[in-house]
Amino acid sequence: MGSNAKPKKKLAVVTCMDTRLVNFLSEKLGIERGDAKVIKNAGNVITEDVIRSLVVAIYCLDVERVMVVGHTDCGMMSVDVEEIKKKMIERGANPYFTPNLKCWLSKIDDEEKNVIKGVDVIKNHPAIPKDIVVEGYLMDIETGDLKKIC
Ligand SMILES: [Zn+2]
Repeated sequence: MGSNAKPKKKLAVVTCMDTRLVNFLSEKLGIERGDAKVIKNAGNVITEDVIRSLVVAIYCLDVERVMVVGHTDCGMMSVDVEEIKKKMIERGANPYFTPNLKCWLSKIDDEEKNVIKGVDVIKNHPAIPKDIVVEGYLMDIETGDLKKIC
């Protein structure tokens, strides 16, 4: 890959897709264009696809540090699995495409615990080298204050 694609800060950030984090997170972290890889999904859950992106970031793009950044008032805390299932059926989709929709959706019960779990998953994943620094943070969605959790 071209050297221009390599993040200047050797940093990857895994965070939530929340609309309120757009621009806000990078501003609060002091991340500018070209500085970091930013991987987003609903609830910053560390799925195998997040690991895939981290593997590329680490081995091809020289990332040395990973920040998992959750946030307060995350929508994934209040996801109603039964409601989604009902709406899927109403709209002709099939909620039984996966054996356990609830598990597949990865609803969050606690934003801090979710970050701690995510950091743990990354640190203990067989594809991730032990020399990578992995840290967990929680951002206040109103103020942008960043609290280090682990
Ligand atoms: Zn969120």
